[in-house]
Amino acid sequence: MAVASSASDRPGPPGGRSERTRDSTFGGLPLGAIALVVAVDVVAGVALVIAVVVTVPDGFEPTQIGWTAILTALGLLHVEFGLRIEGYERARRRTPDVVFIDLLSVWTFAASLLLSPLLAAAHVVVVDLYSWWRRGRLRPRYRQLFTVATIVLAALAAGAVARWAGTGTPNGSMPVFASGLAILVYTTINTGLVAGAIAVSSPRPTLATTLGRWDENLLEICGLVLGALVAAAMTLQPLLVLFVLPPLLVLHRSVLVRELAESSRTDPKTGLLNAQAWQADAAQLVRGPLPRGGRRAVLVLDLDHFKAVNDTHGHLVGDHVLAAVAAALRGELRQQDLVGRFGGEEFVVLLGTTPNGEPFPLAVAERIRRRLAALRVEFDAPDGPAALPGLTVSIGAAVQHEDGVDLRSLLQRADAALFAAKSAGRNTVRINAPA
Ligand code: GH3
Ligand code: MG
Ligand code: MG
Repeated sequence: MAVASSASDRPGPPGGRSERTRDSTFGGLPLGAIALVVAVDVVAGVALVIAVVVTVPDGFEPTQIGWTAILTALGLLHVEFGLRIEGYERARRRTPDVVFIDLLSVWTFAASLLLSPLLAAAHVVVVDLYSWWRRGRLRPRYRQLFTVATIVLAALAAGAVARWAGTGTPNGSMPVFASGLAILVYTTINTGLVAGAIAVSSPRPTLATTLGRWDENLLEICGLVLGALVAAAMTLQPLLVLFVLPPLLVLHRSVLVRELAESSRTDPKTGLLNAQAWQADAAQLVRGPLPRGGRRAVLVLDLDHFKAVNDTHGHLVGDHVLAAVAAALRGELRQQDLVGRFGGEEFVVLLGTTPNGEPFPLAVAERIRRRLAALRVEFDAPDGPAALPGLTVSIGAAVQHEDGVDLRSLLQRADAALFAAKSAGRNTVRINAPA
């Protein structure tokens, strides 16, 4: 189950004090997101009750109990081996917001095809909560509950569809068509609910941010295909499924390699591109031809008197402010703009294409400057909640008008403009026109 970034992947700082009470339960989610999360939890709860009412009077078949035991044991083993494989590397990057793919859906999906609704749901709850608990209960409870609820719903619906499409098949074997349909239903429900939660909790949802990356979704579907094979193997010879665990763990490891490659490009404090990654990507873009009639621009941003923030409130608050600034910056820019942390309290942006008719890039830089000047960063001071208003930024900009300019010269010009902005009294934007 791709524990995709779910409901609270909302960029941006939490809101004012009135939101603090909500914070304790729902991490400051907007009302629409809370409504969706509660609704999904309630529907899953009702589905569970129905499953109990339908299943319990008939009792449980011994084969079903055996299959549940095997699949659940393998799910738990998978969690344990997964933790060993991940070891230090993933632990060091553990945050509630990290998108990670644990491939536990292999077992969940097999359970949804083979088990009665109640046993399938029980399997999901046990394995998923075990994984959450073993991973240090990092994700807030409401999010974990939402994740479990979406998976229970996906599993129950997939199982129902598979049974419906597979009725009448000889000796209970699971036909290809029924499994394929079940994969479609499982993916649609799981991805759809998570995407819905992200959409209603982000200020500017896009298709890319809500649906997640295609390679992540593909991996998730591969997990379901393996799950279908596990289900088929179980009906032939239950012990055959032991053969699935080794390749699955190798696959798990390859997911980590990809995550590592990604984290080597990311600045851990802000989640933006780090300086090397930004420079590599920006240099490549700048080398390419300009879009027809378009221009590019580099912005260099430096927070004003940031040392005073550290000196007054400490470096941890300083770091928290940097993260809030990065989120605000990301929120003011478009998906295709390249945003990085250059170092310390300095940020860099490569603005992709020309916004229609706007005085470029001054309008964008001004918008960022105003947004940061209006930002109130909340933090926990020793004597209670506090807020830091009045943070300002100075911005230097340089425009690329023609092809064949190198990034270095653009950066130098933007840097000179930044120096001019600082000299002009800070909280200012300056642009360096080409010679
Ligand atoms: P100016 O308006 O001239 O830019 O003043 P300033 O205080 O922002 O500039 P200066 O370059 O003197 O200080 C930058 C400060 O940024 C120094 C350092 O304490 C702080 N800083 C740099 N990196 C980090 C970081 O990762 N975390 C925290 N908390 N502070 C940092
Ligand atoms: Mg500086
Ligand atoms: Mg500064």
